[in-house]
Amino acid sequence: MTFEELGLSPEVLRAVAESGYETPTPIQETAIPYVLMGRDVMGVAQTGTGKTASFTLPMIDILASGRAKARMPRSLILEPTRELAAQVSENFEKYGRYTGLTHALLIGGESFKDQQALLERGVDVLIATPGRMLDLFERGNILLADTKLLVIDEADRMLDMGFIPDVERIVKLLPAIRQTLFFSATMAPEIRKLTDAFLMNPKVIKV
Ligand code: AMP
Repeated sequence: MTFEELGLSPEVLRAVAESGYETPTPIQETAIPYVLMGRDVMGVAQTGTGKTASFTLPMIDILASGRAKARMPRSLILEPTRELAAQVSENFEKYGRYTGLTHALLIGGESFKDQQALLERGVDVLIATPGRMLDLFERGNILLADTKLLVIDEADRMLDMGFIPDVERIVKLLPAIRQTLFFSATMAPEIRKLTDAFLMNPKVIKV
């Protein structure tokens, strides 16, 4: 299997080639076509499997091909830690460099002012930790009416860190008709319960 066969656009394929990736990893091979199809996905995968590209590449493809009316965020990626959010942000920048898509990294420990200014200008994608995301929403800085593609990454760590109530609050703020991608290293009973609540007829992928 090659990246070309997965149905990604030339802009994304160019960035992938420049990253030096020759073939998709198993999770990328399975997840990317389903994400492009608009399906919900539940990926049981650890870090190191190429999980990040399995959701960022098709997300960039979907967002770059559809025109936004106003630049309201069309996608939200939730991460349990600042470090993970920052890594995803770096990946997003690398993979999206030929698309003109913009994003904001919304994490604690950084000034509100810079994040608010970015949101004011308008971005396509939010990459956030749950606490800062809710804080900015409550301050009136985030419009979520058009945020129809949600990624909940590292759900098992979200659970361990006590972030699930925040994640549940955030999900309630999003449009009910949306696409949700959910990743967890394990499928503990609590995690399964969450997938029942957050996902609609998901394609389950275990690697
Ligand atoms: P992740 O599981 O998303 O944390 O990715 C683990 C590492 O694998 C990252 O450093 C990626 O840059 C790298 N990577 C992702 N996809 C591929 C691929 N198809 N071929 C080679 N390396 C990759």
